[in-house]
Amino acid sequence: METPINPEDLNIPTTEMEIKKSGIEVTDSRKSPDANQAENISEQIETDSIIDSLQDAKNFLGKYSTKSPQELSVKIVEGILGEGTVKGTQIEIQMPSQTEAIRGLQESLEPNFGEVSEQESDELVLASATSTVLHEGVHGILDSTPTSQLAVDYERVSGTPNTNEDVVALLGEGIAYAIQGCYAREVQPIGSLAPRINEQDSPEVKKRKALGEKLKPKVNEYIDAGKEIDDEFLAFASQQIKCLENL
Ligand SMILES: [Zn+2]
Repeated sequence: METPINPEDLNIPTTEMEIKKSGIEVTDSRKSPDANQAENISEQIETDSIIDSLQDAKNFLGKYSTKSPQELSVKIVEGILGEGTVKGTQIEIQMPSQTEAIRGLQESLEPNFGEVSEQESDELVLASATSTVLHEGVHGILDSTPTSQLAVDYERVSGTPNTNEDVVALLGEGIAYAIQGCYAREVQPIGSLAPRINEQDSPEVKKRKALGEKLKPKVNEYIDAGKEIDDEFLAFASQQIKCLENL
């Protein structure tokens, strides 16, 4: 266990620590904003080193990344835990109230894990939220639009002319899920927070997650070696996508 660092012990003005801490600005746009939950999410983003992970992701994405993690912000909106989207540089994460989120988790975990404590559920809620921030953050810094360099290079490397935009979007999802999986934390009682395919997922989501699974070891290898996405990676990804499409 690491002892939390007290800014006063470091002789650094508190404001500076706060600037560093709020690496990503978190705002709450819900009808009943919860300053406490927003603050906890902001702290969890720091604890889970989301900015560092996104920086690794940016290095890996190389020329296909047009924005930097520092440009991103987080907006909390009403909705379901684990769901999110990104609009430009603004990540939207859906969050029920903390009480509702905890209750929902406890109910869904009960059949497999028995009674999960409030403290464990609380942590799980926050860790799920930051995992979503990471996933959406990858979408935020990766340009996978139909006119992107990624689309152009994928078409060339895969040898499929007129690659439709759905395929490039699928590739972007596969990369986002793979990176989310690479940095997934272990959380009690479920273990790894890595995305997994659920029975109730739509066929489209199942496909995205399956691609993420296939790409994950390769992405891990590239990040460890400090390598950027290259033609070899795109060729590998296109093989995986073709396999998935033939299912
Ligand atoms: Zn996504």
